[in-house]
Amino acid sequence: MSEGPAALEAWAWQEAGVLLVPPREDLAGEIPEAERCAPSAWTDAEQESLAISLLDDPASPRSSSLALRLLSQPSAEPLQRQADGLRCQLAGDTVTYVVNRNLNTSNHCQKHCSFCAFRRDPGQAGAYWHSFDSLQQRAAEARALGATELCIQGGLNTAARIDGSALTYHVQLLRGLAEAAPGLHLHAFSPQELLFIAEQDQLSLQAVLEALCGAGLGSVPGTAAEVLSEPLRQRLCPEKLTARQWCAVILQVHEAGLASTATLMAGHLESVADRAAHLLTLVALQQRAWQHRRSGFSEFVLLPFIGAAAPAPLRQRVGRDQPDLAAMLALTAQARLLLGVWFRNHQPSWVKLTLAGASEALRWGCNDLGGTLMEETITRMAGALGGTAQSPEALQAAARGLGRPVRQRTTLYGEVLPCA
Ligand code: SF4
Repeated sequence: MSEGPAALEAWAWQEAGVLLVPPREDLAGEIPEAERCAPSAWTDAEQESLAISLLDDPASPRSSSLALRLLSQPSAEPLQRQADGLRCQLAGDTVTYVVNRNLNTSNHCQKHCSFCAFRRDPGQAGAYWHSFDSLQQRAAEARALGATELCIQGGLNTAARIDGSALTYHVQLLRGLAEAAPGLHLHAFSPQELLFIAEQDQLSLQAVLEALCGAGLGSVPGTAAEVLSEPLRQRLCPEKLTARQWCAVILQVHEAGLASTATLMAGHLESVADRAAHLLTLVALQQRAWQHRRSGFSEFVLLPFIGAAAPAPLRQRVGRDQPDLAAMLALTAQARLLLGVWFRNHQPSWVKLTLAGASEALRWGCNDLGGTLMEETITRMAGALGGTAQSPEALQAAARGLGRPVRQRTTLYGEVLPCA
């Protein structure tokens, strides 16, 4: 285990070491997905009994063994019914969505994650880096179209500096966007990007967060979590921040008063024990945030792996170009039950599952359809079939097609007030 980077606060590094739940392969063994989705020895009644025990007390502590038992069960109607019931209990029937625009600033990236079809070296075919002018124009267009949020992420671009400073570049980026699109919520920079900025400038993460908040940062995407399992990350993305570092950054983000999302990339090499460790770690981080009266995570987003254009070694190992919808729906239900009261909002990815798949996920524990996005780049480059944008009307129709009420929300699930 590497030591914590100098950028991180000592308390955050220490707490991350305590809160990060290690995968318990000794309890589960590594169960191949094919086996996980095969008919189980468990009867429907046994699965329903387990689901009901979680539903009866959604605040009950979740142990590794309980998580493993639940996650080892195949897709089944009892889990679907119970997850849908818990969704109704915690979040109600109304389906929410946000009108937002994705700004993927550049795909120049110094790292080489095994699942990433987005990254390019500068000058390589398909490489791009949007200018401030271009990004400001996109932000102004989004505002004119009724967006309330800009979601800003990009590769780890070592050339993104102003006067030699990565932080100055990112501060000026936020200021420029706020100027072009006043009033829009700036949901920006994954934990990996935040740590990258700090390390590029040899600054503390605290100083980076303070400067970015001063420039208008409103909340942080919880991407780059992938799966919070150190052994798996060594295989998937050994150059990236570790699971413990991700947790430490999130602790500091929450402590700074910012909310973040929480994600799980699933359907590749992860075992049931990896999934359990990830979900239990998210619960531990959320409990800690709430104990300290912080907002913590605003939502959980399941991100199925897209293999179509992923680098060949991982694509071939996984052997699937598009997500296994049935397996992802089962995991959607399992996550809703395991995350219990600690995650009110669950969101499927229509980009990865298609809108039809994401609409189905609304019956398996999800209550939110995410954003309109307007221009999604990262998953499109991975070969996903869900498209790059949805109109508000399409998201509304998806919810109404299930007989559910629907409303537009803000990034942090508040009411969208009519323009004056
Ligand atoms: S996932 Fe992110 S950090 Fe990894 S290679 Fe792709 S852009 Fe770079």
